[in-house]
Amino acid sequence: MAKANLMDYEKALELFEVVIGLEVHVELNTNTKMFCGCRNDFGDEPNTNVCPICLGLPGSLPAVNGKAIESSISIGLALGCQIAPTGRFSRKNYFYPDLAKNFQTSQYDEPIAFEGSIEVEVPSGNKYTVLIERAHMEEDAGKLTHIGGATGRIQGAEYSLVDYNRAGVPLVEIVTKPVYGSGAEAPELAAAYVRLIREIVKALGVSDARMERGNVRCDANVSLRPHGQEKLGTRTETKNVNSLRSIERAVRYEIQRQAQILANGGTITQETRHWHEDKGATSSGRPKSDADDYRYFPEPDLVPVQPSHEMIERLRAALPENPADRRKRLASEWGFAELEFRDVVNAGLMDLIEETVAQGAKPQSARKWYAGELSRIANAEEKDVSELNITPAQVAELANLVESGKINDRIAREVLSAVLEGAGSPEQIVKDRGLEVVSDDGALIAAIDEALKSQPDVLEKIREGKVQAAGAVIGAVMQAMKGQADAARVRELVLERAASL
Ligand SMILES: [Zn+2]
Repeated sequence: MAKANLMDYEKALELFEVVIGLEVHVELNTNTKMFCGCRNDFGDEPNTNVCPICLGLPGSLPAVNGKAIESSISIGLALGCQIAPTGRFSRKNYFYPDLAKNFQTSQYDEPIAFEGSIEVEVPSGNKYTVLIERAHMEEDAGKLTHIGGATGRIQGAEYSLVDYNRAGVPLVEIVTKPVYGSGAEAPELAAAYVRLIREIVKALGVSDARMERGNVRCDANVSLRPHGQEKLGTRTETKNVNSLRSIERAVRYEIQRQAQILANGGTITQETRHWHEDKGATSSGRPKSDADDYRYFPEPDLVPVQPSHEMIERLRAALPENPADRRKRLASEWGFAELEFRDVVNAGLMDLIEETVAQGAKPQSARKWYAGELSRIANAEEKDVSELNITPAQVAELANLVESGKINDRIAREVLSAVLEGAGSPEQIVKDRGLEVVSDDGALIAAIDEALKSQPDVLEKIREGKVQAAGAVIGAVMQAMKGQADAARVRELVLERAASL
């Protein structure tokens, strides 16, 4: 894949206005699938959660999952949408091996929710109103695994495996209207929007919302037009970008790529594109015209969905605290400075810190671990902090070991590495490896006395009041204690002993 020429980002923004549009698929966590009683479970043996309905065998009859309808309405309400009093499912006809039915059952012209809006805050603190065009229900397709290709893609693969466990899993697709006016912040806005959708569906309890498992997937539409031009430019749709970081990078890349082509007099092909995290680039997918003909027609085997007024009002009354209120509440409960809190939100650490505090950690020490060491490690491994192999309970345990003075910061980092490698819980690791700090003054004093005796010139200087000379002795003692001592306590004792020897 040849890397495209990219225009400098600032220059692209000088020449063009950026318009984005986002389509987010949310997989619902109902017990069963959208139209049949098969289990909706991630990670089961392939092709074990299947039946004639989700395989589309002749004569099978689907029935709508009532819980999926409720979850979809809750999502619509949380996005400020109107709920349709009646809505039909349609058949979207196309052939692909992951779709055994040869059509996807989806909502076409009658989505369950429409015309909403949410406010999205980006890292700079700027807020944008994103208008929601619709949120509709549909079913997921199966999962193809391509074997033999270099990157797991179909290109170059020798054969493909299909798992229909995911076929028929309920999805809600949330589609925004075109978003104007975000300028240089378009990439950040795209990522912040998806983060907010995740927060909302998690708070509603309707999805596990784990991007790395594909519970939340984003297609990002990007188009450019010269400033002042009314007609929208041709857009590309970058598919299934599966982390917040990738969304931001993919949108930025498309802006720079399209700007370069347009500025050179070229035209943008309306197409889907794929994001390659490793190369930091998108590549051409398939052409996509607005007139793609899926021969939609109303699903004859399903009755229309007609949620009652009582049901909608019951779900409205049960909506959780909205994300803006929740942020305000947490900011005041945790007592973080405004900038600290904003960093936490932008780094996607709010949920993790909340869970860690619930496990007994102090808010500031939870913040310190996530924003510091854990973010550093996640960055180095190009992962999301939430993907690291450590639970909030373990972070709380680690934070409390440091707070209580049982281990110092240096040892704590060592323990953290061990936890990430799967060696067990922090307390267990400290116990197994004998890492607790030496809090027995007797042992410290013995080491201090020996160090002072072997460095008589240092002892002399300390006695003369040059306390900074104590550093050499403290260092020697810390080394003798293999770093497992509280340096402040060692310093106190060194000064005491130097005076009394
Ligand atoms: Zn089934």
